[in-house]
Amino acid sequence: MNKISIVGAGRVGETAAQILAEEEYCREIALFDVRDDIAEGIALDILQTAPFFAFDCLVQGGNDPRILKDSDLVIVTAGFPRKPGMSRVDVLESNVGIIDEVTDHIIAQAPEAMVLIVSNPVDTLTYRVAQKTGWDRSRIFGQAGVLDAARMASFIAQETGFSARDITTMVLGGHGDTMVPVPQFCTINGIPIAHFLSEERIEAINERTRKGGAEILALRKNSSAYDAPGAAVATMVDAIVNNRRRLLPCVAMLEGEYGESDLAMGVPCILGEKGIESIVELDLSARAREEFKRSAAAVRTEIERLRDIP
Ligand code: NAD
Repeated sequence: MNKISIVGAGRVGETAAQILAEEEYCREIALFDVRDDIAEGIALDILQTAPFFAFDCLVQGGNDPRILKDSDLVIVTAGFPRKPGMSRVDVLESNVGIIDEVTDHIIAQAPEAMVLIVSNPVDTLTYRVAQKTGWDRSRIFGQAGVLDAARMASFIAQETGFSARDITTMVLGGHGDTMVPVPQFCTINGIPIAHFLSEERIEAINERTRKGGAEILALRKNSSAYDAPGAAVATMVDAIVNNRRRLLPCVAMLEGEYGESDLAMGVPCILGEKGIESIVELDLSARAREEFKRSAAAVRTEIERLRDIP
């Protein structure tokens, strides 16, 4: 891939940019932020890690949207993170205006790009970008489940003492309190987690996963999570630039899958060089199906709030 842009040189944007540069996922990274000089300073700082990590990727930053020109992929991390005690939906109103402005820049500067939304509430904002651009759903997707699944895997690793490398997890639905950890598809080197963990412990892990972001926010106090979110973004970029065709939970526009349409939320997708290649429909347990429906209803309510926002 030639050029990846990151909109929003905040904590998540900076962390993601550093990893993308280190991994040399592209020739050029552009960081764009509305704040004067910030993106330029961060880009320079990252570029000066090149001798340590031995990368040749060019990193540039600025506050002129033309820096996004001809990007192959635009990652959107612009927007307000929530503060302790807030839900992701509480930032909807302020972040819709930002996402609309950013979408206009993307349409003008990088009309062929894929767009990866990170800003919250990510399901609703992914929907907004899909509506505003009218682009094929393969090109517009969001990051949520990759992070939530990693959180769940790390909790399982802590609880069992096994290597996080061997743990595979799946978290679907909206990126909020109604998200759907799916223990039936969580394994330790192929062995269902129920072999190692009691039902009660699995329930506790599910609940901790649902509240994973809030747990960190309450501890960090003046910032929401950004290390694992940055790594989650990089994982999706890796799948795209290397055309790995990984099966990852992504926020995608649904067109009848899982019985839902005109909605964006977390579902298992095949992610490769053209973005979302397909959505995989799993045979969910009755309980997971029920939870997924509840989560879809919550996201739909959030999307309906968009109508009241000018
Ligand atoms: P941050 O405050 O550190 O950074 C946000 C940046 O966006 C700031 O630098 C700000 O100047 C910039 N910005 C604001 N309006 C802009 C505009 N119109 N154009 C360009 N840049 C603009 O916040 P953060 O911790 O990096 O989080 C960023 C977003 O990502 C938040 O909405 C947060 O909730 C979300 N987030 C999502 C996930 C996820 O899993 N989807 C995980 C973590 C954070």
